[in-house]
Amino acid sequence: MMEPAEIRALFKAKKVPLTHQRLAVYEELSGRHDHPSAESLYASLKKAYPSLSLATVYKTLQTLHELGVVARVDSPAAQARYDAIVKTHHHAVCTVCGKIADLFDPRLDAIPAPKAAGFKISGHSVHFHGLCQKCTKEK
Ligand SMILES: [Zn+2]
Ligand SMILES: [Zn+2]
Repeated sequence: MMEPAEIRALFKAKKVPLTHQRLAVYEELSGRHDHPSAESLYASLKKAYPSLSLATVYKTLQTLHELGVVARVDSPAAQARYDAIVKTHHHAVCTVCGKIADLFDPRLDAIPAPKAAGFKISGHSVHFHGLCQKCTKEK
């Protein structure tokens, strides 16, 4: 995760204006470990930033993703989920409530890239599907 000063420098280098709102989106995401959706980030931020719009949250996440400081996480739900941890790591995904937890395991990092026709593999992330603790109890 990056310090506000690093984010500022990155935006400046890419000539993208960094507003208070955009920085707030990144800071909120960095402080959370639940891989929130844009809607969820918007819901947490709109009290402190009444003029913030959902469209701005989406656009900011898109920009941060293009700059390589935010990752998108595949999820069984329709909404994209976001992650401020961009180094290789893996996820456990609850198939009922969509909760996503981080998994750090060097054995998974070390999986060799298979040959895939027409693909130049640039990285990988392993997803394990199952039930989170809460959904296991409710079953
Ligand atoms: Zn669950
Ligand atoms: Zn993650």
